Amino acid sequence: MEQGIFQVGPIRPPSEANSLLLRVTENCPWNKCKFCMLYKNTSFHVRPVAEVKKDIDVMAEYRDRILSHWRNGDYDMAAIQREYQSMPTDEAKMCYQMVFTWLTEGNKQAIFLQDANTMVLRPEWLVEIVSHVRTRLPEIQRITSYGRANTLARISPEDFKLLRAAGLDRIHSGYESGSDKVLELIGKGATQEDEIIGGKKVKAANIELSIYFMPGVGGKALSNENATETAKVINEVNPDFVRLRTFILRSGSLMEELRASGKYQEQRDIEKLVEIRKMLAHIDPKRVTGKLTSDHIINLLEEVSGYLNTDLYDMLEYIDAFLALPELEQKKYQLARRMGFPLDWKYLYRMQPYDQTRVEELSKNIVDEKEWEALLHRFTDRYI
Ligand code: SF4
Repeated sequence: MEQGIFQVGPIRPPSEANSLLLRVTENCPWNKCKFCMLYKNTSFHVRPVAEVKKDIDVMAEYRDRILSHWRNGDYDMAAIQREYQSMPTDEAKMCYQMVFTWLTEGNKQAIFLQDANTMVLRPEWLVEIVSHVRTRLPEIQRITSYGRANTLARISPEDFKLLRAAGLDRIHSGYESGSDKVLELIGKGATQEDEIIGGKKVKAANIELSIYFMPGVGGKALSNENATETAKVINEVNPDFVRLRTFILRSGSLMEELRASGKYQEQRDIEKLVEIRKMLAHIDPKRVTGKLTSDHIINLLEEVSGYLNTDLYDMLEYIDAFLALPELEQKKYQLARRMGFPLDWKYLYRMQPYDQTRVEELSKNIVDEKEWEALLHRFTDRYI
């Protein structure tokens, strides 16, 4: 391994945008979800524990070197520049810069273990890695990882406890749906039972659980099922976070084949919002305490966010207020949002006059439903 560098994988959850990234495995061991194109044409590898530990050592070394340039309440940027320029390779420079950015702009207390399903690792190896993070980077207070439901269900309660004791704090899991029919349709390789068993084990070990729900992924035929069965899983598991990721049928994904075969019909943008409402209406606020968030531009209403026990009715009211708007007002906001304006519909007047006119004209003039959905899709298809 080249000196002074560490590996970095391609993605992390948006909530880990400011975390240090530690690549423990490469790519996805499942790689069969029909909606996902992240790791296509790649193969999964487990990185040797010794190699991952060396990466942690490099991070710790860069952290020490950068902190040594802290003088009188500020960094000596000239010294940091000199050190950066003295790095032997471009890769080493990039790694040094990554640690610098994490220290100066990121969350110095958080690290995320990449890639798609670190929980597939043998628990004793993961314990060794997590323990090494805690030893070499003692400022870290939150260690998080992705884990697929099927993998979580297979880990023993004892191993979860060992991982918790070593310092694993949170697991992000793409449940996508609580419906077995939907899970099978999209090739998720997990069942509702896996989600409930796996999720409960995570929670019982006192590890935080953050799950992802994809409104619309069941298409028109399974929309009702997607909403009610997902609510059932949430009521059973009580995850700490439920993160909405509205489904978009991406160009080039295997979902296109499903659509072409006639087995799948995508919902309209508004119908996916109606599905979110239905899911929320089936949540039992006496059984859940976690937080629902819309922390991704892909969701139409970013403000649908709050605790599922105390804010549930406010979230429902908020969605209802949008659905009660005249169609033209709904369309204007839909388009503005899909063009990337992170606004509440009440603030459309804050857009630039040129954009307001464009949104108004397109919303009025495109009356054909297919044409309208195609326009929205052109924007959402480019989101990650
Ligand atoms: S498990 Fe995650 S990364 Fe792997 S194919 Fe499915 S969605 Fe993609």
